[in-house]
Amino acid sequence: MINHEIKIAFEEYHSIKELDKTDYELCLEATEAMKNSHSPYSKFRVGAALRLQSGKIIYGSNQENVAYPSGLCAERVALFYWGANHPDDPVEAMAITAQTNEFELTKPVTSCGSCLQVLAEVEKKQNNPIKVILYAEQGPVWVIRGIENQLPFLFFEERLTT
Ligand SMILES: [Zn+2]
Repeated sequence: MINHEIKIAFEEYHSIKELDKTDYELCLEATEAMKNSHSPYSKFRVGAALRLQSGKIIYGSNQENVAYPSGLCAERVALFYWGANHPDDPVEAMAITAQTNEFELTKPVTSCGSCLQVLAEVEKKQNNPIKVILYAEQGPVWVIRGIENQLPFLFFEERLTT
């Protein structure tokens, strides 16, 4: 028997104001994106903003549906929009934020497993890691570089892509 240990790494900041200017601005875009959230069921609004290499910003927000599984998370709304419209302009960073009136958010909201799996595929496709910036109205900011620091056991099978 062999015991394995996997370490992940991320940075923590006190506030988005400590980030560099482009990342700080991307956070403001994610907050703006959150305004188009359609979340009458969960009342949990999520906004995502992607910054592409060209400087272009792509927006995503969670889009729910009365037939619950038909909805989609903010991250995948943004990432699929990128894939459909700007696949040759690599994603440098994604800022994600959330808001609800139902309870207090005191730490960043992390992505669900499905969004992480999609993020993994975008990184593979563009052959470059993505910087993910997570923050809420209160609490710290987490900056995570590369999917291996979020989903070390991601599903990927090279033989399915050839
Ligand atoms: Zn998700």
